[in-house]
Amino acid sequence: MELVVGSMFSGKSEELIRRVKRSVIARRAVQVFKPTIDDRYGALVVRSHDGDSFVAVPVRSSGEILSRCEPETMVVAIDEVQFFDAHVVDVCRTLVQRGRRVICAGLDLDFRGEPFGPVPALLALAEKVDKLQAICVVCGEAGTRTQRIVNGVPAYYEDPVIMIGAQESYEARCRTCHQVPHRTGAAVPVRTGT
Ligand code: ADP
Ligand code: ZN
Repeated sequence: MELVVGSMFSGKSEELIRRVKRSVIARRAVQVFKPTIDDRYGALVVRSHDGDSFVAVPVRSSGEILSRCEPETMVVAIDEVQFFDAHVVDVCRTLVQRGRRVICAGLDLDFRGEPFGPVPALLALAEKVDKLQAICVVCGEAGTRTQRIVNGVPAYYEDPVIMIGAQESYEARCRTCHQVPHRTGAAVPVRTGT
């Protein structure tokens, strides 16, 4: 089990595509899955910000990965794995037990800088982990965080993940330039560790 994590623009999709293309060269049957929630570049491919792409099966739930996995498939890749629920962890374990090579890619942190969904568990279980870094668009240092911008200003910690009608964008930023203001009056969560 392999995991590729990092902020947005860190090259996770690029790396996933590189690994699956090499598997094809090795004549292994490959299937790439991605959640339907991520339809940025059309449904039937995964595509990196650099433009490289590979065919992908969009699935609505992690269970669908098992049911749509063909018997001859030896390499299973899952992009945007952070959008699946906790069950995706069992799906990956099952596939590995059945002898498949499993390659997952996804965000380690959400826009608030908090661990993202099932990714912490996958980080613990994977044999091989690669944590990639983007370039901070503010200062040029290592971009390890994803800055969410709503209507031109940093998103608040308390903002919902989906904001209907808002102009939204995302940037790669370093820990210092990453900004997550709290709304006045909101209870500030107690953080353990960093
Ligand atoms: P991810 O899947 O992690 O979001 P991609 O693999 O889709 O990343 O895209 C990585 C590519 O994005 C880089 O090779 C580079 O061409 C481009 N890119 C754009 N902005 C940045 C940035 N701030 N830092 C690094 N790469 C960037
Ligand atoms: Zn910075």
